[in-house]
This record gives sequence, structure tokens and C-alpha cells, in this order.
Amino acid sequence: MTETATRPGLREISDQIARCRLCKLGQGNARAVPGEGNPNASVILVGEAPGFYEDQQGRPFVGPAGQLLDQLLKAAGFARSDVFITNVIKHRPPGNRDPEEDEITACDAFLKAQIAAINPRVIVTLGRYSLAKFLPGPRSMKDVHGKAFPYEGRLVCAMYHPAAALHQGSLRSVLEQDFRMLPMIISRAETRAAGTDTDRTAAVTAEEEPTAEQMALF
Ligand code: URA
Repeated sequence: MTETATRPGLREISDQIARCRLCKLGQGNARAVPGEGNPNASVILVGEAPGFYEDQQGRPFVGPAGQLLDQLLKAAGFARSDVFITNVIKHRPPGNRDPEEDEITACDAFLKAQIAAINPRVIVTLGRYSLAKFLPGPRSMKDVHGKAFPYEGRLVCAMYHPAAALHQGSLRSVLEQDFRMLPMIISRAETRAAGTDTDRTAAVTAEEEPTAEQMALF
């Protein structure tokens, strides 16, 4: 049993995900992969969608990309059980194809509910689909990775997807470097949340481009 099951809010969300038939993925044979981890985590990591191994086990990031993610977390001083790991969409798309708009929309309320239940200080986006959930608009990962942006009283930290480093080896050191900044980003988020710095914790909305200062927070 994961820690998810001990927290009624998260368990209820997981049960709802398992019962969800809102899109074709939920109506098919794929297994629900709601997410797992520390219900009181300071950090939630949001990937794209379950793949083959995740679909087999009903757990996020347990295949090769997950093994790399575990190593990246460890190098940054975290155990997997310190954080909460989930995905933008909660069922595997056939053949690991990219998630489609209706699937992303169908899962939106679940991701929001998980974030509300956990109340993390920092949201780490893994890959472009996750990034687009929090910082809509065309953004090049090359420009934003490793940076943190204010988002609804939290900080969103953009990172490459670990699978990208499995295909392009040079990205591994980039990911390692970005993950090593996480403790500092958490501490910065905690300071901001505790302080009177309300302007700087304001949401960055789709209409409102991040300011130069926000872009360069870290
Ligand atoms: N890739 C993802 O985006 N999520 C997983 O859970 C596994 C691989």
C-alpha cells in the first residue's frame, strides 16, 4: 500500500480516477495510474502520461524514465517517498502516443484536486505537456528549464522530461543540474509563502506574461 491510501482526500481522488470514463482512455482497457507518494510533500512532480510499465503496475514512473527520475531525485537529496509523483493524464495512451486535448481536459480536475489535497510549495513539470498545464503559451524548454515561476502562491519549476535524457544523453547533466536546484527552490518558495511578499506570489496567468524578474527568479 502506498501512502496515498492513508490520506482520505487523495484516496478519494484515486478512486474517482479509477472510475473515470470521461474520455476514451478511461473507457478503454488501460489501467488507472493516479499517482503516489508523500501526502504532505513540499514537491509534486507532474509527468506526461503513464507508459507501458506504469500501465502494468498502476504506478507512475516505474519504467526506464522512472529509474532515471529516482536517480535524479537521489542526487538532489530526495527519496522517492519524500515527494508526490503523478501525471497530466492518468491512463496510458495507446502505443505511448502524445496525449490529446480532450484527454488532458478530462484529467484536469484530478490534477487540480491532487495539488489542492497535497498543497505543495513547488510543482515540478516534467516535459512540455506538463509545462503547458501551468505556463500556457509557446515556451521553449531550452529557455525555461531549471527556472521557477510564481503560480497561484506556489512555484512551478520547469524541467525536461527524464525520457528526453534517455534519447539524448547530453540532457542528463542538464537534468541533474536542474534537480540539484530543487532544495533551494523549495526553500525560496517557503520563504515567499511565509513572508509578506504577496505581489511576488501572484499568479502568472495565460494572459499575463511572466515579468523579466519572474523569468529570472533563479
Ligand atoms: N512518462 C511519464 O510521463 N509518466 C510516467 O509515469 C512514465 C513515463
